[in-house]
Amino acid sequence: MSVAPGYRDAQPRMGFFTDTTVCIGCKACEVACKEWNAIPATIDELSGDSYDNTGGLGADTWRHVAFIEQRVPEIMAMGEAGVFTGAGGAAASPVGGDRTGRAALPGDPVDLTRIGGEGFAGEEAVDPAGIDVTRMGEDGLAVPIGSSADVSFRWLMSSDVCKHCTTAACLDVCPTGSLFKTEFATVVVQEDICNGCGYCVPACPYGVLDRREDDGRVWKCTLCYDRLIDGGEPACAKACPTDSINFGTHDDMLAMARDRLDEVVEAGYGGAQLYGDGPSGGVDGAGSVFLLLDQPEVYGLPPDPIASTKHLGDMWRSAAVAALTLAAGVAAAVLGGRR
Ligand code: SF4
Ligand code: SF4
Ligand code: SF4
Repeated sequence: MSVAPGYRDAQPRMGFFTDTTVCIGCKACEVACKEWNAIPATIDELSGDSYDNTGGLGADTWRHVAFIEQRVPEIMAMGEAGVFTGAGGAAASPVGGDRTGRAALPGDPVDLTRIGGEGFAGEEAVDPAGIDVTRMGEDGLAVPIGSSADVSFRWLMSSDVCKHCTTAACLDVCPTGSLFKTEFATVVVQEDICNGCGYCVPACPYGVLDRREDDGRVWKCTLCYDRLIDGGEPACAKACPTDSINFGTHDDMLAMARDRLDEVVEAGYGGAQLYGDGPSGGVDGAGSVFLLLDQPEVYGLPPDPIASTKHLGDMWRSAAVAALTLAAGVAAAVLGGRR
């Protein structure tokens, strides 16, 4: 079991599992977070960017529900298992996939050299180089690049939040100790001792941190530390009507995420993947784990985040070795010159 390090009475590490596949974009999480944490309302006008009017995480938005409108092949053209079926009933194979096994889904890379059956690609689109795999016609035929066949889209909705990193660069660089790790291994900022220096803002590899314009201090998700202390769950998880946001021990969240990934892949969503689940990587694992239906970049998440302080120890050691070598060289030169 993973526990919070540095505490005499270490608690199990707590965190989120956000299953974006069941998010309906209701924004109850954003509202609950604002209400519980008394975060000011700052939206004055509609952004025009789909239904996303908060735009991103910030000092006044500790949960942000992204709406990604993604152009995809015509979904109606897909068979029961989500397989793109052609005139001959043949399926397109996902890259690296099994021709008759895992289904190809909108957004999946499709291996055009492995499209089988009669007429799948259509007569005018037999040259793989000329087929736009992101677009399928109504009858399930791949369409040649440049043609005007109808294209559909899907919404990917995802509620983003602080990742509560294992190696959290934000608190490593904080000169006042305002940012600290709790007994639940979550990362909290104590606004009352934040001096507004802003060092932590560029240190966060996810762009989570932000200073509030009117007071200059940094504010972010506390994983509802006050509620956790009382044995409660975070306001966002409590408010989520679809259980897209799950809260519990980090170990349970990881197990839940992996089981759910298996389910989703089995259901045909070949592009599904977990984000923040591994203990390794640039931040040594995140307390907020996500199940995504596409690449992290599509959701505005960095594919390979790295804590800016991760190699600080090595850098200091290298600098110390270089300084000692230089000092030894100077001493040798001085002593050699005296002889
Ligand atoms: S580095 Fe960023 S994502 Fe990680 S704990 Fe700090 S604020 Fe959260
Ligand atoms: S855990 Fe609390 S502070 Fe963090 S996003 Fe959820 S409601 Fe907001
Ligand atoms: S995560 Fe839950 S509460 Fe937030 S927008 Fe999605 S469904 Fe609604």
